[in-house]
Amino acid sequence: MERKSFQLGDIVLMKKNHPCGSNEMEIIRMGMDIRIKCVGCKHSVLVPRAKFEKNMRKVLRSSTQDPNQAGGTEDPLN
Ligand SMILES: [Zn+2]
Repeated sequence: MERKSFQLGDIVLMKKNHPCGSNEMEIIRMGMDIRIKCVGCKHSVLVPRAKFEKNMRKVLRSSTQDPNQAGGTEDPLN
């Protein structure tokens, strides 16, 4: 099975549309729960990681555009 990978700042495509009609979400916080913000209406929702992985279809745009990363590991969760 392919494991979905995503990271902070990514724009992801969800399986279900948000009520506003958009199904693109931006990951704005990661932890045990994932906070995502609707690209369409800017509403943010907190979803458990497992549920997020289930509802997410794919990463549309990664926050890190550079293919060879500079190796700076930032961990927002201290
Ligand atoms: Zn929305």
